[in-house]
Amino acid sequence: MIRINLLLVTLLILTACGPRQLEPDAPYACDRCNDWNEPRAPFRIHGNTWYVGTDGLSSILIESDDGLILLDGGLPQSAALIDANIRALGFDPLDIKAILVSHAHFDHAGGVAALQRLTRANVFSSEAGMATLTTGRLGEDDPQYVADSDDGSFPAIRNVTAVGDGEFVTVGSVDVRAHYTPGHTAGSVSWTWESCALNTCLDVVYADSLTAVSAQGYSFAASGAATRMVESAGRIADLPCDILLSPHPFFFGMHDKLERRDEGNPFVNSLACTFYAESALDWLEQRLDAER
Ligand SMILES: [Zn+2]
Repeated sequence: MIRINLLLVTLLILTACGPRQLEPDAPYACDRCNDWNEPRAPFRIHGNTWYVGTDGLSSILIESDDGLILLDGGLPQSAALIDANIRALGFDPLDIKAILVSHAHFDHAGGVAALQRLTRANVFSSEAGMATLTTGRLGEDDPQYVADSDDGSFPAIRNVTAVGDGEFVTVGSVDVRAHYTPGHTAGSVSWTWESCALNTCLDVVYADSLTAVSAQGYSFAASGAATRMVESAGRIADLPCDILLSPHPFFFGMHDKLERRDEGNPFVNSLACTFYAESALDWLEQRLDAER
């Protein structure tokens, strides 16, 4: 009897000390969520930069000589797919030291809480993004905020550190720089870093969403968000930019580019950030016309 008890205790200790597993949060339901969350095989974009997201929501993994960095976590139900994608590439998610968030909406920050519990990584975003990330609830300043509604809520993220505009998050040999690009949300951040391969180093830009999308009744003109978005588009257009990535793969033409992988690296395009900024301004112009 004592032997069996000892065996049970040993087994319990082994289970408790075994590798941590992802404990996902409840899935978020939305019209486009199932499409966005279709699985997608991970792939290398360039050098230290890998795509580990779902088919419709980006997550980017950056490899350093001393740990990994993850950008964005998709929906709550994306976390398990991201975890599996990272492992499929031969990386260990427990080596993630920092999780960076573009903006505090359910489709990019929804999976971050579960990924943070798994990795115990620090989460970084802007000062203005803190309140929403740490409560999981949209603030009144968010264009998509609906009064007295849980719409858009996502699992709260416990440990978030604010990064100042122009400051860096450093993991091993990789410095990722924060650029505040408010407009789509007040706390939107674009992130930049360098990726080197075959003796060539390129500037990678993870440009945050610049889309004028809102709940009913919100005015981009009256709130000042339109002015901020024009400034942010200018900042993105001015960044050193060889490779453009963004929270929605559609915005950097991921699917088209994957079709053209045999023609060199289609992700390298030094005009991509300028085009991205121009199309954001076109969208905003249409939106402001509709508001008038
Ligand atoms: Zn958003």
